[in-house]
Amino acid sequence: MTDESTPDAGRDFIRDIVADDLASGKTKGVVTRFPPEPNGYLHLGHAKSICLNFGIAEEFGGRCNLRFDDTNPTKEEQEYIDAIQRDVRWLGFDWGEGLHFASDYFEQLYAWAQDLIRAGKAYVDDQSQEEIRLSRGTLTEPGRNSPFRDRSVDENLDLFARMRAGEFPNGARVLRAKIDMGSGNINLRDPVLYRILHAHHPRTGTAWSIYPSYDFAHGQSDAIEHITHSICTLEFEDHRPLYDWCLDNLPVPSRPHQYEFARLNMTHTLLSKRVLTELVRSGHVSGWDDPRMPTLAGLQRRGVPPAALREFVKRIGVAKANSTVDIGMFDFAVRETLNKSALRRMAVLRPLKVVLENYPEGESEELEAVNHPDDPSQGVRRITFGRELYIERDDFMENPPKKFFRLAPGREVRLRYGYFVTCREAVKNADGEVVELRCTYDPATRGGNAPDGRKVKATMHWVSAAEAVPAEVRLYNLLFSAQQPEATNFAAQINPESLETLTGCMVERALATDNTDAAVQFERQGYFCRDKDSSPGKLVFNRTVGLRDTWAKVAAEG
Ligand code: ATP
Ligand code: MG
Repeated sequence: MTDESTPDAGRDFIRDIVADDLASGKTKGVVTRFPPEPNGYLHLGHAKSICLNFGIAEEFGGRCNLRFDDTNPTKEEQEYIDAIQRDVRWLGFDWGEGLHFASDYFEQLYAWAQDLIRAGKAYVDDQSQEEIRLSRGTLTEPGRNSPFRDRSVDENLDLFARMRAGEFPNGARVLRAKIDMGSGNINLRDPVLYRILHAHHPRTGTAWSIYPSYDFAHGQSDAIEHITHSICTLEFEDHRPLYDWCLDNLPVPSRPHQYEFARLNMTHTLLSKRVLTELVRSGHVSGWDDPRMPTLAGLQRRGVPPAALREFVKRIGVAKANSTVDIGMFDFAVRETLNKSALRRMAVLRPLKVVLENYPEGESEELEAVNHPDDPSQGVRRITFGRELYIERDDFMENPPKKFFRLAPGREVRLRYGYFVTCREAVKNADGEVVELRCTYDPATRGGNAPDGRKVKATMHWVSAAEAVPAEVRLYNLLFSAQQPEATNFAAQINPESLETLTGCMVERALATDNTDAAVQFERQGYFCRDKDSSPGKLVFNRTVGLRDTWAKVAAEG
């Protein structure tokens, strides 16, 4: 496994091309576009493309359009159009006036198709989809000319107009470019430019009965928008000759150029809208914004800040060769970003009650806790200390092994921001489970230091039983435990432990009143954010990412 990081991640071959084109005067300004098809939500792979296109425009003083490639109405929906705009903005980019839809160009594209027919460079083919496929040939054999290839211009114009008018059923005819059935590039073997489709389009309704292919719409849309650098993923490299053929044979208002880069692939992740759509439809996840999804909506809900995504994309860089990025790199960027910004809080996920026998009953006191250890401007908050507390169940062991330094019978530890406490007795239930610890605290250690200089080996988080608020905490693990899940049989590869829901967690009071949905650090546990399922009487938190590389262990086992 390799990653794409380069020593100078701020520079890559595409930025070099743009810089050269500007320096040589080949183009005066730079105009890019991000061209999603509104047939699903955006995912991490799209984030790479968004950061590249919008980033280049920003860095070189140009513009970047958001253009919806809405040429296939059977799969496209307004919900996706709205979600994509939300997600691009959330990621931190602004298309200004540059919001476009390929469907806005349908009339112009139609006129250009007629131009090709008039020039003898396009024809209406009555063959079925299957016949067209069979006569296309293979990598080693040329294709065969369609029997309809030599129709007259007039007949082609007439049939094409009637296709538009809705006279024929779906699949009855197509418009094809007349290029070369013997071309070594299969994309040039008379590619389909228009197909009949009686479907309701989210924007044009039922105005059209024919829709342009991606190949016919894309380059011409770029030309209409005066895109200078049309950046797409490597699978379109073989389409570039067709992209150029269309532009060279049409009276387009500008001459864009296509450049290809390697798409983002990530371990334990499937970045394919088809797969993500099926995950949602089949109910394997709760929706497009399920925090286990690699969608921007899912990552946002999980608490990933957009700055972490931008940082991740910067670090993986842009290359020409396909590779797979370790998901650990993503977690690392999230952790690093949140470490700088996230407020610190205390939460006990699996509570074990502690009673301080020498703390007066009915009394309590306020302690001061810093909100961020490296950023005093984040201020402090007050937390309540009293006779009854909760600590993490894992922080106590009745018979501790050698390297366990946390609480055990007779052992003294520090409670964060508080006092030293010593465990005197573990109370058990009838099944022999420890249900409560009887402890004492040393009033002289307020603030966490002993005046006699004695040391303890552990500092533990805790919450006050009187003040803490119950919460549900959702722990997310890899959606796919396999390092390289297969798109074909993805359902069978879903990690059954990808979601672990903890109830009865106890969190400090501030977490109920904080008026932010940004992720916070639960000390010693990781980063968490309040989920939208929270309501006034119910707190729900999502784990954004753990503090350490829990993935590395799983990856090694996967
Ligand atoms: P999918 O493969 O998930 O179906 P797509 O390529 O069909 O995605 P589009 O909506 O057409 O999705 O993509 C919009 C833009 O995002 C395109 O320019 C595409 O090349 C780019 N893009 C899509 N997936 C990735 C990825 N994994 N890495 C980088 N760029 C991507
Ligand atoms: Mg696409």
